[in-house]
Amino acid sequence: MGTSGNLSAVVQREPLRVAMSPSGVDKGELTAPQVLLIDENAHIVSEHDGKPSDESLLHLRIVKERGAGAVLHTHSVWNTTLSDLHAAEGGVAIEGYEMLKGLQGVRTHDHSEWLPIIDNSQDMPALAEVVRKTLNEHKAAHGFLLRRHGLYSWGDTLAQAKRHIEIFEFLLETMGRTALMKAC
Ligand SMILES: [Zn+2]
Repeated sequence: MGTSGNLSAVVQREPLRVAMSPSGVDKGELTAPQVLLIDENAHIVSEHDGKPSDESLLHLRIVKERGAGAVLHTHSVWNTTLSDLHAAEGGVAIEGYEMLKGLQGVRTHDHSEWLPIIDNSQDMPALAEVVRKTLNEHKAAHGFLLRRHGLYSWGDTLAQAKRHIEIFEFLLETMGRTALMKAC
């Protein structure tokens, strides 16, 4: 929605070069010439006047900690709602759904996926450090939520990262709608 969310994909590992969506652009209308190339410090190394997304440091942290080939971040109504609703528990346990099998390495619906929730912040270096700790505490996690903000997921490839984001969005919406219907 709007200019929310951001996308990245690793182009080269040594030295690290990451294709990153620019700040303030509608991601649904993103064109190839708008995509920036950044280094491991989120500095632009391509010939662009644009500004990399404020959240580039989080993408780079995920690439480093997980060896991810692509990182995707979405702001949706359901991921924002559940990130708030479950904040006190520190995460969302997603269990028993067939769609969990879309997450890399998950073979059965009989799986419990813990989606950690991290408090939102505008201090990106500090937030990147919390992301580092969270990823190390939850080695099996395929994603995390920023409270009242959005969802991050990643994959070895862009296609796998897209699949993971779609799976999480489906699961979070399903859980949210189920909770609503039960409350009626
Ligand atoms: Zn965001």
